[in-house]
Amino acid sequence: MRWYCYLAAMQDRRMQAVEKISVGILGATGAVGQKFALLLEDHPWFKVGAVAASERSAGRPYAEVTSWKQPGEIPAAVRDLVVSRCEDDLNCEIVFSGLDSSVAGPIEEDFAKRGAWVFSNARNHRMASDVPLVIAEVNSDHLSLIDHQRVRRGWTGAIVTNANCSTIALAMSLSPLHRRFGVSKVQVATMQAISGAGFPGVPSIDILGNVIPFIPGEEEKIESETHKILGCLGEDEVVPAEFIVSAQANRVSVQEGHLECVSLQLSSKTRIADLEECWREFRGPPQDLGLPSAPHQPLVVRSQPDRPQPRLDLMEGDGMTVTVGRVRRCPILDFKYVLLGHNTIRGAAGASILNAELVFRDRFIG
Ligand code: NAP
Repeated sequence: MRWYCYLAAMQDRRMQAVEKISVGILGATGAVGQKFALLLEDHPWFKVGAVAASERSAGRPYAEVTSWKQPGEIPAAVRDLVVSRCEDDLNCEIVFSGLDSSVAGPIEEDFAKRGAWVFSNARNHRMASDVPLVIAEVNSDHLSLIDHQRVRRGWTGAIVTNANCSTIALAMSLSPLHRRFGVSKVQVATMQAISGAGFPGVPSIDILGNVIPFIPGEEEKIESETHKILGCLGEDEVVPAEFIVSAQANRVSVQEGHLECVSLQLSSKTRIADLEECWREFRGPPQDLGLPSAPHQPLVVRSQPDRPQPRLDLMEGDGMTVTVGRVRRCPILDFKYVLLGHNTIRGAAGASILNAELVFRDRFIG
């Protein structure tokens, strides 16, 4: 047996020997919650032990209260689970949150107080100085803010947040460029899918055959969260990156996948070929460690003039890869390009699961 087969076999055996971690899904009935249920089916490290949602759903089986919008059947592991209230003790070491931001704040804090690791998709805690806002490939070092969070808040659990779905894809594309050339200005116009508004989301009469040039709070989130993610870790907080970001957000009649048109100025001169090389070579801890949800390539560059497109490129890397294309010179700034990210996988549930894998890797990887 070759040495790498031997190592893989050893790792498999080790993973089988360690008991899976029981995880809960908050907001399990929603668009992001459903994606968690789907992605956690057959996960090698995690198993869904509890699902929770609002009073409207609590006390009834998941399959009965969930308007299932994912491909295929509801996973067997969650179908018959009785939906809990979010105030209940779910008895789970990890809690994935797809809660509406109107309620997420205190509920997520309560779980952290009770000792759970909360991986959140809501905006409530993202910009708090002691809360890591993490993309596993980009700024995993920010997870060390948890020590400070625990001391400051006096809890044994932790809150780790995901950025807004458009921000995650944008920050992934900017990260390797910022590291190598320095980014000084970014202008981005988004075309965001209707699933980004959850379920039932935008009324069909408003969005069919239409574009809505306003998504409440979205532009502000893209502008501020990008700075925190690409900022440097200071003693007990992140020093935000200093480049300028200007965002315009639009809702378009696409079911899933956010497309973004980006122009940027860099601090040093370079060529299109160097940008593309930077994106192609981009890797992070998830790839180095071989985490279960890590895509082989976090960023893919397409050369066809009419790509990326949501219908064709959305599931690149099982929805965890951001696709970049149409890279060209910009007559106002330096370069412009188009990117596509899966809003409920890389932009939400998949990214949270990858963060959890990073945190819990020691238990499963020797
Ligand atoms: P959604 O489809 O509207 O789902 C919201 C979930 O929150 C449902 O499970 C709902 O339960 C639950 N909920 C609502 N009010 C509640 C209450 N009072 N107490 C307990 N649970 C309550 O929204 P979503 O699109 O999945 O988004 C979830 C979160 O992720 C939001 O914070 C959103 O900003 C963020 N996010 C979304 C996306 C995306 O692409 N959709 C991407 C990134 C981040 P019931 O079914 O029982 O009402």
